[in-house]
Amino acid sequence: MSRLQNRTLCYDLHSHSSCSDGDLTPAELVQRAAACGVDVLALTDHDDVAGLAEAQAQARLSGLILINGVEVSVSWQNKLVHIVGLGIDAENTGLQRGLQKLRETRQWRAVEIAARLEQGGFTDVLAKVQRYACGTIISRSHFARFLVDCGAARDIKRAFKRYLSPGRPGYVNCQWAGLDEAVSWINEAGGQAVIAHPARYQFSQLGMRRLLEAFKLAGGCGLEVISSCHNPAEIRRMAELACNYDLLASQGSDFHSPDAAWAELGKLPPMPSRCSPVWQDWELSVRRLQA
Ligand code: AMP
Ligand code: MN
Ligand code: MN
Ligand code: MN
Repeated sequence: MSRLQNRTLCYDLHSHSSCSDGDLTPAELVQRAAACGVDVLALTDHDDVAGLAEAQAQARLSGLILINGVEVSVSWQNKLVHIVGLGIDAENTGLQRGLQKLRETRQWRAVEIAARLEQGGFTDVLAKVQRYACGTIISRSHFARFLVDCGAARDIKRAFKRYLSPGRPGYVNCQWAGLDEAVSWINEAGGQAVIAHPARYQFSQLGMRRLLEAFKLAGGCGLEVISSCHNPAEIRRMAELACNYDLLASQGSDFHSPDAAWAELGKLPPMPSRCSPVWQDWELSVRRLQA
């Protein structure tokens, strides 16, 4: 029996590559995860699964387990919510079709954002922003990088605050996937649907309860209790909600870039012991693959 059989495995179930708004290619991401001591990594690019094949190939070389994932953009009650799908069949046609529609919405939105920024005096915005996007999705993060590089904002955070957040000149409201829709794409692709970084949405207590009820009803099964953007009090609150709503608990760094040290791969606090981890049903097969 391998010595791995007894030690706690390091799971990081939320990360991005340059196929969406991450800085590293899928292969570089996997290499970095392995160097950071991650045993099980999920690549969860926004609205796209194009990086999974390259990530899987590198995972075999690097000796870590790569879980096929995606982070789906959802509109729920006029707010943006992110739903992570874990263990999906990336070839599933319903999922592919749904994600394709979201990427078309992103393209439409990119044209709109560019037009609004051009009204504000910027020139040739779309062509310049497209240079930052390596994959087929254009994210507000790419616009933020453009705004920083042309000197309009001091850093990415300020670029979002000044130009790209609700109410700001470069913000365009979009209709993303419905909650039911996103969860059913994930379930039909054999995956587990998880609400990403729940403390980020700033819902009231009632709003959060309603989201969890709607999510459960739609067939969702998990809540990201641990995320790099959750503080200890938020982790405790999310652990309690996961228990109360009988949701499995997930954890992920939401890694985007080596420049963001607060969201490093695998650097996560321990899962509260009262939570049932989202990997409870696949831990045995993971260990078998690792042995
Ligand atoms: P999008 O999905 O294109 O609307 O872009 C959302 C992405 O932008 C998120 O996944 C984050 O990576 C990033 N983001 C959102 N808000 C901020 C912020 N305030 N500061 C830095 N990055 C942000
Ligand atoms: Mn992102
Ligand atoms: Mn997200
Ligand atoms: Mn993310």
